[in-house]
Amino acid sequence: MPTTHRVTLIPGDGTGTELTEATRRVLEAAAATSGSAFDWDVQQAGVDIMEEAGTPLPPQTLESVRRNKVAIKGPITTPIGTGFRSVNVALRAELELYACLRPCKTYPGVRSRFETVDVVIVRENTEDLYAGIEYEAGTPEAEEVRQFLNTKQKKQIREGSGISIKPISEFGAERIARYAFEYARAKGRKRVHCITKSNIMKFTDGLFLSTFREVAKDYPDIEPWENLVDATCMGLVQRPEEWDVLVLPNLYGDILSDLTAGMVGGLGVAPGANIGTEAAVFEATHGSAPKYKGQNKVNPTAMILSGKLMLEHLGETEAAERLETAVANVIARGEKVTYDMKPNRDDPTAVGTAEYADAIIEELGQ
Ligand code: NAD
Repeated sequence: MPTTHRVTLIPGDGTGTELTEATRRVLEAAAATSGSAFDWDVQQAGVDIMEEAGTPLPPQTLESVRRNKVAIKGPITTPIGTGFRSVNVALRAELELYACLRPCKTYPGVRSRFETVDVVIVRENTEDLYAGIEYEAGTPEAEEVRQFLNTKQKKQIREGSGISIKPISEFGAERIARYAFEYARAKGRKRVHCITKSNIMKFTDGLFLSTFREVAKDYPDIEPWENLVDATCMGLVQRPEEWDVLVLPNLYGDILSDLTAGMVGGLGVAPGANIGTEAAVFEATHGSAPKYKGQNKVNPTAMILSGKLMLEHLGETEAAERLETAVANVIARGEKVTYDMKPNRDDPTAVGTAEYADAIIEELGQ
């Protein structure tokens, strides 16, 4: 049914603003093919707004995402020395965006060593070594933690060690496993692979895996697979076609999503979404590539495909499919594509960010 979707639009900074503008135009054209439209609630975040607002993540931006429940965001440069580890990490934490979704698929025409990749990474976003619980070597806190732990076990932590804590809870593991199975079911996927190092990290990854096994019982239509993270890296590059939906704790998810992004043509084409129960934020995997700022040069595919995920999330399934087909056709033709998608990066026939978006919009009109 034709709908007007109220969505928070965060242009970001660096090349983010150019990528966001290209994405906005493409999304409007895709939605229009189903008679739908967007009512954008434009909000700022990043280094450009920091001076004016005194923070790279103004409260009204957060409130807007909470209110609209859906946002699409351009990349944001991590400001140095502001107390913010990263605006992106803060946004995920504030909104409890517990699932990071990164589908990685090869499109004919994209330069890649692989042809048959179609995997979906479902990364737990709130726990694990990424929880930010760390003790710097040489500090009284690290020493206190070290001495406490040394009273609890035979294996002693060496003096002067830095310590990072890896918390994994049954709650967090169940929530992400359920998300992965629900996603697989909704998308007609056959398998969910649980990726851990449970043979070594028995009480964290082991808990993640045992919880996965329990959740899998509720989804008899989906095959549960169990794989070790090291073997998965090898298996992905040896037999990419065997892998389907992968659910992983935070750190392995971070690493493997870059591996699979590389397998499908790199950061320029890898989309992503961070999803919680109250809100969802769609964004490319890559950063703000500030050295190309203002040059109308970088590839908006990753952000446009993140927009395709957003269309699906909004129930605009047909518009999402038409958008994906249009992107795939423009890439397959290989004419009006950005420099990074040409066989030679200096190819003078490469088009800019805006012109590539124009080509997709034209394709949507066919
Ligand atoms: P980056 O992803 O911005 O860029 C690394 C290199 O990848 C670029 O120099 C460019 O050669 C290439 N690249 C990236 N995106 C591209 C695109 N769309 N098209 C063509 N080439 C592209 O990584 P970085 O330089 O490490 O990070 C820059 C800033 O972005 C940092 O401040 C970082 O913290 C931040 N960052 C933000 C996000 C986010 O907003 N979600 C994610 C990662 C990094």
